[in-house]
Amino acid sequence: MKKRLAIIGNGMAASRLLDELVRRNATDSFEISAFGEESRGSYNRILLGRVLSGSDPEEIALKPTSWYAARGVTFHSGVRVAKVDPVGRRITTITGDLHPYDVCVFATGSSPLVPPVRGLKGDDGSPRDGVHVFRTIEDCMAIRDRARPGSSAVVVGGGLLGLEAAKALCDLGLHVTVLHLDAVLMNAQLDKSGGELLRRAIEKMGIFVRTSTSADEILGNGHVEAVRMRAGDVVPADLVVFACGIVPRVEAAKASGVPVNRAILVNDLLATQVPGVYAVGECAEHDGKVYGLVQPIWEQCAVLADVLTGANPRARYLGSKVYARLKVAGVEVASFGITDAEFPTDEVVQVFEERRGVYRKLVVRDGKLAGAMLVGCAEAAPALVQMFDRNEPLPPNRLDVLATGNAPTTAAEREVCNCNHVTESAVVEAIRDGCDTLPALCEATRAGTGCGSCRGQLTTLLANHTQTTLA
Ligand SMILES: Cc1cc2nc3c(=O)[nH]c(=O)nc-3n(C[C@H](O)[C@H](O)[C@H](O)COP(=O)(O)OP(=O)(O)OC[C@H]3O[C@@H](n4cnc5c(N)ncnc54)[C@H](O)[C@@H]3O)c2cc1C
Repeated sequence: MKKRLAIIGNGMAASRLLDELVRRNATDSFEISAFGEESRGSYNRILLGRVLSGSDPEEIALKPTSWYAARGVTFHSGVRVAKVDPVGRRITTITGDLHPYDVCVFATGSSPLVPPVRGLKGDDGSPRDGVHVFRTIEDCMAIRDRARPGSSAVVVGGGLLGLEAAKALCDLGLHVTVLHLDAVLMNAQLDKSGGELLRRAIEKMGIFVRTSTSADEILGNGHVEAVRMRAGDVVPADLVVFACGIVPRVEAAKASGVPVNRAILVNDLLATQVPGVYAVGECAEHDGKVYGLVQPIWEQCAVLADVLTGANPRARYLGSKVYARLKVAGVEVASFGITDAEFPTDEVVQVFEERRGVYRKLVVRDGKLAGAMLVGCAEAAPALVQMFDRNEPLPPNRLDVLATGNAPTTAAEREVCNCNHVTESAVVEAIRDGCDTLPALCEATRAGTGCGSCRGQLTTLLANHTQTTLA
C-alpha cells in the first residue's frame, strides 16, 4: 500500500520538492498531496516584479493546476492548514477538514515583515487602505489596482525586494521614494561603495532614495495620504509598500507542537524532532541558518527527496554556500561570501569604474575566494561563483579574475546557470537535441528557472547553436 505524503504549502520549495520527487518516481510508492493557501498552482516568486510592472501572472507560472493531476498529485488549492496531529497523523485545515498522512513536509515559506509603524490601521481597526506588502501575485494585483500614473508611492525597504518594487512602480509612472534603515542600499549584500553605486543608478531612474531613516507613522484620513519619517519630515504617498524583510511562517508548525526557534528546526535529513514531519525552504532552520534565496532551498529539496524516497539514504543536507546574482531594478548585482576583509591577512582587490557605473571587488583568504561583489556588470559572476563553490585556488593575477571570472576553458566545466549548476555543454546538447525555444531549453535543462539572470546568455547560446545546427 502506498504511503500518504502531504506537503503543506505550494510555493517555490514545494514546487521544487515535487519535481525532485517525480524525478525519483515517488508517485509509485506515495500518494502525494499538496496544500496551498494560495489558490494558484505554484509560480516563480522571484519574477513578481514583472507582474507588478504589468505582465500577465501566467508568465511566471511554474505549475499550472493541470500539472498536479497529470502526475497523480492531489492539489488542495486555496486550502490553509491549521495544524497537524503528529500522533494521529492527521492534517487539520482551517475549515476543520481532516486529511490523514504518513509523512508530512512543512514548506510554508515566509510572510513579509511589517514593522510596528503607527497608523497602519485606520480608526476602525481595519488595515489602512493603500498599505501593501510584496510577496504574492495577489499583492501585486492589489498594488497595480491602486497605482495611478502621477500619484506617489513610498517603498519601505531598500533591499532587493524594495528596489524591485520601486522600479516597477516608477515604470508605472508613479513618483517613488524609497526609505531604507541602513546607510547603504542592499546592505546585506553590498559594502558602502557598492551601495553608493547602486543608489546612483536607482536615482538616475527617477526614484528618490532616503537612507538611514524609516517610516514612523502612516498618515491619512481612511486611506494613506503621507508617511512621516523618523526625523519628523513627511513624504506624501497615495500608496505605501512594505518590503523590508521576511518572517518564517511557523504558526501551523507551532500549533502542531513541532519545535521552532526562528523557524522550524531541522537536522541534516531535513527532519524535525517530530517523527514523520519534515521542513524545507524559508520556514526551515538548519544549523542556526534560515535561507531566503532559492538556491539553498533547492539543495534542501534534492536531499529531502532522496531521503523520503530512499533514492540515496546517505543524502545529508550540510548547509549551503549562499550567493546572490540578481538584476536589481535593472542593475546587475552579484554578491557572495564575505563583503570585506575580516583578518589582516585577507586580501582585498577592488576596481571602481565610476564612468561606467561598475564596481567589482574580491576578498581573498589563503589564496582562495572568500567573497566577491559585482555591481553594474556581473559577467564574471558565474565563473566566480563556481570558484567559490569549489573552493578553488585563485590565479595570481587577481585583476584578470575580476574582469573575466577566470572562467573554465571548456564548455563542459563552464556553468551558465549557477542556481541549478547547469554547464554550457549541457545547454548546447539540449539545443542540439531539439530544444529550439527558451521555455523548452529551460524546461529540459532547468537552467534559467531560478533567479533568471542567465536567460540572456541562454538566448545567445540558443541563437548561436540553433543557427549552427540548421546550417
Ligand atoms: C519579490 C521577490 C523577489 C525575490 N527575488 C529573489 C531572487 O532574485 N533570488 C532568490 O534566490 N530569491 C528571491 N526571492 C526569494 C524567493 O522567492 C524565496 O526564497 C522562495 O520563494 C522561498 O520558497 P518557499 O517555498 O520556502 O516559500 P514561498 O515561495 O513563500 O511558499 C510558501 C507557500 O506556502 C503557503 N503557505 C504558508 N502557510 C500555509 C499553510 N498553513 N497552509 C497552506 N499553505 C501555506 C504560502 O501561501 C506560500 O504559497 C524573492 C522573493 C520575492 C518576494
